[in-house]
Amino acid sequence: MNPEAAARLARWHGRLDGWQGGDTLLRRSPAQAWFRRRAAGRLAVLGYHGVEDPANFEAHLDLLQRRFVPVSLERVEEAAHGGRALPSRSVLVTFDDGDHTVHAHGLPLLAARGVPAVCFVIPGLVGTSAPFWWDETEHLVRNGGTTHRVPPARPDLTVHTLKLLSERERQLALAELRATASAPCPPQRQLTAVQLRELEKGGVVVGNHTLTHPCLDRCGDDQVRREVLEAHDRLTELTGRPPTSFAYPNGNVDERAHRFLTQAGYRSGFLYNHRLADPGARHPLRLDRLVVSSRTSVVRLETILSGLRPALFRAGRRAARAVARAGQPLSSRS
Ligand SMILES: [Zn+2]
Repeated sequence: MNPEAAARLARWHGRLDGWQGGDTLLRRSPAQAWFRRRAAGRLAVLGYHGVEDPANFEAHLDLLQRRFVPVSLERVEEAAHGGRALPSRSVLVTFDDGDHTVHAHGLPLLAARGVPAVCFVIPGLVGTSAPFWWDETEHLVRNGGTTHRVPPARPDLTVHTLKLLSERERQLALAELRATASAPCPPQRQLTAVQLRELEKGGVVVGNHTLTHPCLDRCGDDQVRREVLEAHDRLTELTGRPPTSFAYPNGNVDERAHRFLTQAGYRSGFLYNHRLADPGARHPLRLDRLVVSSRTSVVRLETILSGLRPALFRAGRRAARAVARAGQPLSSRS
């Protein structure tokens, strides 16, 4: 793509993303109909975090029940291992991190409708009031915390750059932020062992999301082992059943983690790459997921489930990268 066309596409994508009316337009476009037909044979795995907007999440479930076929993790794992194929328009609901709102708001809505789901939990936080490290980082930066390990930036961008550091460097940066901020991060509600069991009883299967949620590709070998296998043991103890499913923190795949997961008998692993899944065609430990939030409008959700918006997102990202490359001196391009 030439730089001018790439810049135009990147601008267009940016505008479309922030424009609510654009979703309606997209949903009515011939492209949506074409993408929907193509998506019918794929599996849509929705990757939520919390259920911050229960009423809107309920509207999501209405749409899923009306137009799609919610399936269980067990069913997806069966298909991913060459068993029975999934019905057309299958969808699997998943949540990452084990936010307490999944139990408080998500569970009653899911259980009342019999919609199965998976919640990927960080067992190192279960039963504590420790904040998620990314929430703590944002709080510390907002309260004047600084670290010389990353350039000063907006709180959310600081989280983004910390994810690029080695795990050791990230821990040191966090310690510096704690030492320099004017106020520590307040305690955060985390799921309890009782709530984990209630989730499972209500049809929300508990999966492994590592012990403390580092980016595994930034960790040393020993830590990768601990993050995967210690989390596995703790979750087995907490729920009385070994987890069979794993979600890579931040979606960062790691070969070493893959080996430990195979060793521990895992049947599914999930990415966070905003793609429709094709369980028969991909490795069961690398299933694609769609990025969504409980606040996503229903109209936008429809264009996500068809794969249209994810395709536009990828095109926009490619264009933005092309623009960034075009802006660099030739010698620094790789
Ligand atoms: Zn996560």
